[in-house]
Amino acid sequence: MSPSFVTSNWFRVSFPLLLIASLWLGMSNVITVTQGNLDIAVNLPIVLFLIALLMSHTFSQSRCAMIALIMLISYWVIQHRLQSSLGTGTTLLELSLLAFLLPVAALLTYAFKDSRLTSKGFLLFVLINFMLVAWSYLTVTHFGEDSLSHFREGLLFVVPQVSKLPFVLVLYLFALSGITAILVLRNNRIADVVAYSAIITASITFVFFEVPFISSTMFTLAGVLLLLHLISASHELAFNDGLTGIPGRHALEMDIKQLGRKYSVAMIDIDHFKSFNDTYGHDTGDDVLKLVASRLTLIGGKAKVYRYGGEEFTAVFKGKYLSDTLEHLEILREDIAQYEMALRNAATRPKDKKKGASKRGKTPSKETVNVTISIGVADSTTDKKPHNVIKLADKALYKAKQTGRNKVSH
Ligand code: GH3
Ligand code: MG
Ligand code: MG
Repeated sequence: MSPSFVTSNWFRVSFPLLLIASLWLGMSNVITVTQGNLDIAVNLPIVLFLIALLMSHTFSQSRCAMIALIMLISYWVIQHRLQSSLGTGTTLLELSLLAFLLPVAALLTYAFKDSRLTSKGFLLFVLINFMLVAWSYLTVTHFGEDSLSHFREGLLFVVPQVSKLPFVLVLYLFALSGITAILVLRNNRIADVVAYSAIITASITFVFFEVPFISSTMFTLAGVLLLLHLISASHELAFNDGLTGIPGRHALEMDIKQLGRKYSVAMIDIDHFKSFNDTYGHDTGDDVLKLVASRLTLIGGKAKVYRYGGEEFTAVFKGKYLSDTLEHLEILREDIAQYEMALRNAATRPKDKKKGASKRGKTPSKETVNVTISIGVADSTTDKKPHNVIKLADKALYKAKQTGRNKVSH
């Protein structure tokens, strides 16, 4: 399986569902295996979440760590407080509180940026979770034994055929699983995928809480998925450029080793980007880089595009000589020149107009900008070594810049 398949949004949504379905179908076997290895099975989720915390620390993925922490706390609560029948004491109230708060805490991770575990953000998240646990504890001790009974007739009614959990919570968990699945389909970021996996595995646990060993089974699955996503995140960190999300220099270095004998390389550079930054500010410059990068990836001819560095990109055409690439590069150049990029921040008014970037539209909300690119291309007919072909493409790019920009040279 290619990496792009296993990191595709549809795979990331359906993979946990497939695993849950196969565990569900083989649940009687899972129960037998768990009973035979009780100590290991019950402690496995804890071990997995602790490894996930350690890995998150190493890769500065604090949002994965937040999910690991939430799952760890929830699993502890399940193992230490919810092992009696749902009909006794405060068990159902505690389960309901947990079912309500786990998704809240998981969605709260969206309010934070990924950083180190020693960052203020992560510490704040730990503090908020501590407060949620304390608030739950006070609620449970305040309402006591027959807490849910007088609500049962109203909002918190139970449909026993579906779940022992109040029906409104079942709907809530179902809706949040759906919303996070949509976020994965739309954005497919690691933060979306980990929140989705955690919410869906926890939801199954809460809704089918009466099934023996459901919590150790589902939380083990959650731990495994979290670790897989962390490996995926570290892979993305190493190979993808942080700003634009497209493959970076390291990926290019790896890929050019496997080009074979016939290939072309195009070096692409945004024109007058320094003055664009001076005019619109560095943040708008960053936004434009992202937009240009996403546009470049639409290039024809099965080329793969990389961010070479700064405002320079590289397109690699495997199995094609220069003459077969020119048409695609011309279309690309034209496409970027025509592409009107909407400025996100309407306050980012140009201080003055400079060459290479022009402002269109009269109202601030419709403010758009254009940039142009110059392209130099070379192929493996003159030199077999990829690094030398890149140098030749660079020379051709220089020629494009010298002879007026917004053109393809070879
Ligand atoms: P030319 O047409 O000759 O390529 O002119 P240029 O101004 O694009 O070229 P130059 O190499 O002089 O400047 C490149 C500029 O790109 C410098 C820097 O401000 C900008 N740049 C490089 N990386 C980034 C980035 O990550 N974000 C932003 N906003 N700007 C960047
Ligand atoms: Mg430039
Ligand atoms: Mg440059």
